[in-house]
Amino acid sequence: MVKKVRYSYLPQQFENIDDLWIQLKEFVKSGDFTLGKPLQEFENKFAKLIGVKHAIGVNSGTDAIKLPLKAYGVGHGDEVITAANTFVATVGAITEIGAKPIFIDCDDTFCMNTNLIEEKINEKTKAIVPVHFTGYMTEMNHVMKLAQKYNLPVIEDACQSILGEIDNKKAGTWGDAGAFSLHPLKNLNVWSDGGLITCNDDELAKKLRLLRNHGLIDRDNVSLLGYNSRLDTIQAVVGNWLIPQTNSIADKRIENAAYLDSNLSKINSITLPPRPKNYKIVYHLYIVFAEKRDELLEYCLTKGIEAKVHYPIPIYRQPALSFLNHSEGDFPVTDSHAKKIISFPCDQHLEKEELDYIINTVSSFYSKSKSDN
Ligand SMILES: *Cc1c(COP(=O)(O)O)cnc(C)c1O
Repeated sequence: MVKKVRYSYLPQQFENIDDLWIQLKEFVKSGDFTLGKPLQEFENKFAKLIGVKHAIGVNSGTDAIKLPLKAYGVGHGDEVITAANTFVATVGAITEIGAKPIFIDCDDTFCMNTNLIEEKINEKTKAIVPVHFTGYMTEMNHVMKLAQKYNLPVIEDACQSILGEIDNKKAGTWGDAGAFSLHPLKNLNVWSDGGLITCNDDELAKKLRLLRNHGLIDRDNVSLLGYNSRLDTIQAVVGNWLIPQTNSIADKRIENAAYLDSNLSKINSITLPPRPKNYKIVYHLYIVFAEKRDELLEYCLTKGIEAKVHYPIPIYRQPALSFLNHSEGDFPVTDSHAKKIISFPCDQHLEKEELDYIINTVSSFYSKSKSDN
């Protein structure tokens, strides 16, 4: 009987890395630390993986959202449409350049309900940042129609959905730019912060390369004021080592999620989110809706399962955003999710035994609470 199902798989992910240590030693000898050759290699591999012309390495997923907004001239007083239930980083990227996030409620796919976007568009609206949350994707066919109608740039926050797809078209290839994170907790993870921007436009790519490196054309010429936001070349060495596994990581997560789905769906008190056939969901997070969520969470924790809630307090209700004057009830679907969502481990390093332990524990919680009544 498994005693513990851990949430973090990082010790396993980097257990057998003798070949990577050799590459890192070689790299350190080269001294090629900033914008070095391994970074260019990694950018090329990543662009190929996603199926875009350009990938630009930056120092975080947050900056991968911020720099494209900046490139499109979004700034003070402008409004940017995004999801009410995202991770704080999306909002941080928007507010850091002085713009105001305009939130849209989500639907049961955890992504924004695109039917609610149009009524929020006005003359101040300068961009749309759909968030492909938890491994799902926002309904991009609709987002792109609206973007065309109102001539708005679209920056996809694809930080949680690398290799996610709708209609066989990948996250980060629909909008004007896609933002990815390499944070240790993301599906493709390096040993520190890092991110990538994907795009197909040559001029945009050129501008983003300037923006991430102080606007330097070369060491003596500054063409615009940018940021220090390079992806460390040493992290690109790690990225080059891991990137061949990206597809199998997604496939394994999908397989684990299907197994959990087919078993958890038999439990009356658990409801699965919709799994549309034309979506490839990559399960950065595996989330279901649960009755008596708080008690179930507590029970799982006492049984050694590191279940979590992403997130108990939606970003729009956080004290840091009180200046937007939102109150509970403004985004009712987001609010109702916060009370019933629970996340279970679903990563590529889980054993079937551990998945069975999750299923049996959830099942025993509900049969126990039934007999308590
Ligand atoms: C992780 C994440 C980001 C960016 O994160 P960084 O930690 O800056 O790499 C942005 N949006 C979402 C939804 C995320 O999960």
